[in-house]
Amino acid sequence: MNLILLGPPGAGKGTQAQHLERARGYIQLSTGDMLRAAVAAGTEVGKRAKAIIDAGKLVSDDVIVALIGEKLDQIGDKSFILDGVPRTAAQADAIDTMLRAKRRRLDLVIELQVTDDILVERVTGRFTCARCGAGYHDTFKRPAKDGVCDSCGGTEFKRRSDDNAAAMRTRLAAYHAQTAPLLDYYRKQGILKSVDGMAEPADVARQIDALVGP
Ligand code: AMP
Repeated sequence: MNLILLGPPGAGKGTQAQHLERARGYIQLSTGDMLRAAVAAGTEVGKRAKAIIDAGKLVSDDVIVALIGEKLDQIGDKSFILDGVPRTAAQADAIDTMLRAKRRRLDLVIELQVTDDILVERVTGRFTCARCGAGYHDTFKRPAKDGVCDSCGGTEFKRRSDDNAAAMRTRLAAYHAQTAPLLDYYRKQGILKSVDGMAEPADVARQIDALVGP
C-alpha cells in the first residue's frame, strides 16, 4: 500500500504519517523533514533551501524530485507514505514517472480537510521535544508538567523557524495556488479520498485506518 497524505500546512500530515509508520511499518517520506535535516547538516541543498523555507515559499521542483527519487531508491519495495510531497503538478508528474519505472504505483491519496483559520492557530502554537520529537501545542496540548516532555522527560523544546504568522500566510497561498489543484489530478485517477482533519488526531487516525483497510 503506497499513499499520499495531502493537505495544507498544519493539517496533521506528519502526525498521521507517524501513526501509519508505527502501526503498519509503512515508511514516512517527508520532504520537509529531509530539507530540515539538510539545513541542520549544512549541506549545499540545505544552505540554498533555508531562506526559501523560512519565507514559506516552495523549494524548486528539481531539488524535491532528486530528494524523493533518492529515498524511493533506498526503500526498495516497502510501502510508503508521501508527506508534504508532491506539492506541484511537476512533482506529481515526476513521481508518477519514477514509480512507473519501478513498476510501483500509488494506491490511495488521502486529503486532510482543515479550514485556514484553524491552520494558522495550530501552526503558530506548535513545538516539539528536541530529544524525541514528540509534538505539543501552546493551547491544545501542553506537556503534563510544564517544560518536561511527557514521552522522554526531555527538557529542551524547539519550534520550526517557518511556524510564524507571516511565513504561514505564504505557505497557505502556495498550498491553494499550487498544491490544491492536485486534488483534481488524483480524483481523476480515482484514488482520492478525504477525511475530516479537524477532528481529534486519534479520530483522524481511525478515519484513515478505515480507508487504508486491514
Ligand atoms: P513541511 O514540513 O512539509 O511543511 O515543509 C516545510 C517547507 O519545506 C515548505 O514550506 C517548503 O519551503 C519546503 N518543502 C517541503 N516539501 C516541499 C515540496 N514537496 N515542494 C517544495 N517545497 C517543499
